[in-house]
Amino acid sequence: MAWIVIIASVISVWILSLFKLLLFSRFSFSKHFNHNCRALQKRNVLLVIAHPDDESMFFTPAINFLTSRGHNVQILCLSVGDADGKGHIRKQELFQACVALKVPMQQVKIVNHPDLQDGFGKVWNHSLLANIIEEEITIHCINMVITFDNYGVSGHCNHRDVHYGVCKVLYDTLQRDIEVWELVSNNILRKYSGPVDIWLSMLWPILHSNETMQCFVNEHPRRSYLAMAQHSSQWVWFRKLFVTLSSYTYVNTLRKIK
Ligand SMILES: [Zn+2]
Repeated sequence: MAWIVIIASVISVWILSLFKLLLFSRFSFSKHFNHNCRALQKRNVLLVIAHPDDESMFFTPAINFLTSRGHNVQILCLSVGDADGKGHIRKQELFQACVALKVPMQQVKIVNHPDLQDGFGKVWNHSLLANIIEEEITIHCINMVITFDNYGVSGHCNHRDVHYGVCKVLYDTLQRDIEVWELVSNNILRKYSGPVDIWLSMLWPILHSNETMQCFVNEHPRRSYLAMAQHSSQWVWFRKLFVTLSSYTYVNTLRKIK
């Protein structure tokens, strides 16, 4: 009997959270980007990822929020994801996914450098990463960068190296007026709590200053699912399950790197 109550409660909270997300996500908790004077200007935002599909698996709440408000989103992917020899396919899949996410293909750059190959145990040089990121920032007059935090959601070493590459750019160019935000890695319970995590995530900007913490609730979760489906070579049953259960499909919490 107790188990039935628990399961019914979990299902109820899940449905309530989805309801909240689908009906009220427009009332965003990202005041910094809505009301801050600087935010009224359209930003040139650079999303820096390690592999094709990172954008669709982890960052879609932020991408959907920014594109729907007219911010200019550029995506820099630092490898073609060739760990299984499918790099040439995955490259095209990323372009297709970005179309689903309303990011024009010409705003997507995919790097295929011999020293930046996909894989566990492949160490990426932070100075090399910083040089590539720096160049992209200059070309597109970027004033805001979004990337992984130092755990990189899954702990993948390539995600973590990308974080340190971005930090190196930030520390090497202290004088530049550029904001850098990292995607906060959740513990495993929150990571697989699906839309339920929006309640906890919404608390963060309230408990912290809007200047240091932002919460993006996904306004178009179906778009996120469609984007991930463009990565056909990766679209296997456990990733479908991941996208459904992952809190990153429904909400992103970003923390400002100082
Ligand atoms: Zn990845």
